Amino acid sequence: MNTAYLSIGSNIGDRLHHLKEAVRALHSHEEIEVMKVSSIYETVPVGFTEQADFLNMAVSVATSLDPFQLLAACQQIESGLGRVREIRWGPRTVDLDILLYNNDNIEAENLIVPHPRMGERAFVLVPLLEIAPSIGHPVTETPFAVEALEDDGVLLWKKVKGIGQLL
Ligand code: ATP
Ligand code: MG
Ligand code: MG
Repeated sequence: MNTAYLSIGSNIGDRLHHLKEAVRALHSHEEIEVMKVSSIYETVPVGFTEQADFLNMAVSVATSLDPFQLLAACQQIESGLGRVREIRWGPRTVDLDILLYNNDNIEAENLIVPHPRMGERAFVLVPLLEIAPSIGHPVTETPFAVEALEDDGVLLWKKVKGIGQLL
């Protein structure tokens, strides 16, 4: 069995509903079990800032899928929830990114793991560190740290104590 960490975000429509649907879809996949869920954070957009605030969370999963199959499963869930790709980094009903997959270091055309921008994103690291406080970069073995980042755009929105609250 493999362990992966995923980041989930939404900033269109019923954002909480979209996060819940994404968690449910992951958990109901035959080859994915959601193990831990973070609280839900409201975050101001970075990059393309002319868009609504996001809800973001992180989950850990146990899976028998390989990383590419897991990416395909994530993309299928995104499409199922009505995601249409328009502006890069623009508004979306749901975004499901693979942050980490075991200690793998993957540099394929369609999949880079660890996620290349995770270390500079407070909206990714704050939820991730809630469920995996001492997790580090598999290659550099440096713990991820949010201290050096601007994290005042990341606010606790809903405390989540277990997956039962989201199913
Ligand atoms: P960002 O990657 O900066 O968070 P994004 O999530 O908005 O941006 P998407 O439009 O969701 O980007 O995905 C663009 C492409 O990124 C996808 O087609 C996918 O193949 C690729 N990709 C590369 N590495 C990853 C990863 N670790 N997780 C998810 N998608 C990835
Ligand atoms: Mg993303
Ligand atoms: Mg994405």
